Amino acid sequence: MTSTLPTQITAVTVPAAPPTNGLGAAGGSATQLPISARLRQRLQEAKAPFLANDNISAHLREGEMDQLESEVTDKIRELLRSLVIDIENDHNTAETAERVARMYLHEVFKGRYQEQPKIASFPNVKKLDEIYTVGPITVRSACSHHLVPILGSCWIGIKPGVRVIGLSKFSRVAEWVFSRPHIQEEAVLILADEIERLCEPEGLAILVKAQHYCMKWRGVKEPQTTMVNSVVRGDFRRDPNLKAEFFELVKQQESVLGY
Ligand SMILES: [Zn+2]
Repeated sequence: MTSTLPTQITAVTVPAAPPTNGLGAAGGSATQLPISARLRQRLQEAKAPFLANDNISAHLREGEMDQLESEVTDKIRELLRSLVIDIENDHNTAETAERVARMYLHEVFKGRYQEQPKIASFPNVKKLDEIYTVGPITVRSACSHHLVPILGSCWIGIKPGVRVIGLSKFSRVAEWVFSRPHIQEEAVLILADEIERLCEPEGLAILVKAQHYCMKWRGVKEPQTTMVNSVVRGDFRRDPNLKAEFFELVKQQESVLGY
């Protein structure tokens, strides 16, 4: 029993040596952190939010999307293994990890990683002050809770201010905003903020009607349920007639399109 004492004593002396352990690997381990960990660290240091519906493009450096793609691919492969899918022998899922990683980073969630599309605004020289609507703009998004699709349509109503942007630009901003995991209510607010920043309208109204696959495909399995929500700002908020006019215009467009 007393024989354990000497070994304890020698054990105490051992920690004096460790600085040489790892043969330099300790210095290298910081750079060997997965790219996502380095990005999270960078975002936290910059106090930049990186929630599912935030855009982090300002913090990405050249080549890092490729590194992210390879990390995500590895993780999806592990996910498939955890789902007990024989990806080594199943020809259908052999390349699924690569496909899903590309889909998330470059397609369905690209609005998190890509910069805002370049959109020029112009002075409203003709002093346009009539409201107009743009729509339907296709909504392709995914719910933050289950990462399954949210698909629908969006209408934007504008009462021009001092600056205007081209009609087609609204779809580009909308696509950029929607291509992130979202909660529909927040998506509409984020889109409204971006449009206000771009063209500072006197009034802005946005209506989104979408089907949530977390209700169609799973959960309550209500295939017909559509979620409708809207945001009205500026003159559309102050003037009930203007607001009514926007919803009337949307209704007319819908009936023309047979919605
Ligand atoms: Zn969901």
